[in-house]
Amino acid sequence: MALPKLPARIECACGAVHTCDIKSVVCGKNAVAAVPELLAEQRALVLVTDGNTAPLAGDALAAALTEAGHTVHRAHFDTTAVVVPNEEAVAHIQAQLTEEVTALVGVGSGVINDLCKYVSCEAGLPYLIVATAPSMDGYASKGAAMILGGMKVTTSAPPPAWIVGDTALLATAPADMLRSGIGDLLGKYSCLNDWKLSALINGEPFCQEIYDMTAACADAAARDTAAILARDEEAVGRLFEGLVVVGIAMALAGNSRPASGSEHHLSHFYEIVGLQRGVDYLAHGIDVGYGTLVTCRLRQMVRTALPESTPFDPQLWRLKVGVVYGPTAPAVAELQAKTGFYDEAKRLERCAFIKENWQQICSLLAEAPSGEEIAAMLSAAGFTEREYYRTYGSRMIGESIVWAKDLKDRYTLFNMLEDLGVLESLAGAYVKEYL
Ligand SMILES: [Zn+2]
Ligand SMILES: [Zn+2]
Repeated sequence: MALPKLPARIECACGAVHTCDIKSVVCGKNAVAAVPELLAEQRALVLVTDGNTAPLAGDALAAALTEAGHTVHRAHFDTTAVVVPNEEAVAHIQAQLTEEVTALVGVGSGVINDLCKYVSCEAGLPYLIVATAPSMDGYASKGAAMILGGMKVTTSAPPPAWIVGDTALLATAPADMLRSGIGDLLGKYSCLNDWKLSALINGEPFCQEIYDMTAACADAAARDTAAILARDEEAVGRLFEGLVVVGIAMALAGNSRPASGSEHHLSHFYEIVGLQRGVDYLAHGIDVGYGTLVTCRLRQMVRTALPESTPFDPQLWRLKVGVVYGPTAPAVAELQAKTGFYDEAKRLERCAFIKENWQQICSLLAEAPSGEEIAAMLSAAGFTEREYYRTYGSRMIGESIVWAKDLKDRYTLFNMLEDLGVLESLAGAYVKEYL
């Protein structure tokens, strides 16, 4: 798969003009050697690493940059555990920003990339990311996934100016990181379907070009799974490129719609509620993989009959949000007040539309792979349902199906099921059938 030509500006058939600000993507063997040259004009840098990525590549890169005449300030997180992308971590990096610094360099994957993106946006500086794992699609995206004020938020921030994927380095990533990258790409089968669904129900802007570009990345990941797990450098390189292309798809769309839907909302639920309750959660793309299995099964389950809608009870909703989200409940309620998804008049309007167009909606839902197909893809990639159930248990999985949507302002399958008043009963049926 070839990376789209950069920088991209596409006057598209969908009516929109799509743009992308990434200067360059370098992917290949020993790509990390290109970093000093890519940064030739940036004399003073802040280099962000953690206890895993410093020995892996960060220390060597610091030496190479210093050798090439750069001043390197180190913002190092002295831990091998996952850094939480919160206010404290942001301040740790900001402490290294002096006036002479003109760019940031991150060595890492998900969290380090998000932190660099966030801090460089706040400081108005470009950043370069040396990817250490093909574990998620956020490298090239326009948003930074942060945990601020206890909420999982995606703040708007430019993508990195430079993305470097060294295939030799990427192929040494831990097996779970490889699995996570595959899971994040397989998740596109679910979110792309949600995008089409919302375009139909809410008239949300939809672009077939971006849809196809993203779907091709999911197909490639499914095809390459065995070679990726065998650490074939070319296959791992293609996985990385697929993840970058999805990031570019998000940049082109101007939001994360092409890459994140109901399956991602489940993963965000496990992260937020997991942090609150002290329950361990799985790597992002692994949660997304299991989330995709759940949503694809639900798409099948709902197709069997047109559900009867029941009225929405706002008081009961607020009460339950309080129980599920605890200290985060006020932020959740505030967000949903903004979306207007629970505005009764609008809900009834959507319900009427959904019922009138039920056959069309059923065929749309059937475009997503079946639960059996997703289960086979996941199993080939080393996912076991037992891992998912053991980590979260039936109660939390049931809760996530009902409540994950409330963390977000994006209409998905879950919102449609809530509109129809069947989400809770379907969650119950799911738990009964599969757990
Ligand atoms: Zn993702
Ligand atoms: Zn378009």
